[in-house]
Amino acid sequence: MPNQKKKTMQMTPEEQYKERKKWFEDRIGKRVYRNATTCTCASCESVKSEGLIIFDKQHAGYLCDVEGCSSEDPKQAIRYFDTMDEAVEFEKNKNTNDS
Ligand SMILES: [Zn+2]
Repeated sequence: MPNQKKKTMQMTPEEQYKERKKWFEDRIGKRVYRNATTCTCASCESVKSEGLIIFDKQHAGYLCDVEGCSSEDPKQAIRYFDTMDEAVEFEKNKNTNDS
């Protein structure tokens, strides 16, 4: 949704962080998927292929922080999604946006 994207751009970093934190907290006990990273350790490979389940509020906060820290370098950006398709799509777009 283009409108939603625009709204996100206009939000302050604090607002964006809060919104993402809520996204993760809304999904406690559910499975989320992440785009691929360059890291190939067992834990990253497992998350990449099957996603992960958010255990509790603390875990939700941790994942939100991981995502926030990664956004400083767009090429290394990590983002979590409801479906694997969205994660794959994000990774694809991330690479085609390079100039
Ligand atoms: Zn790793």
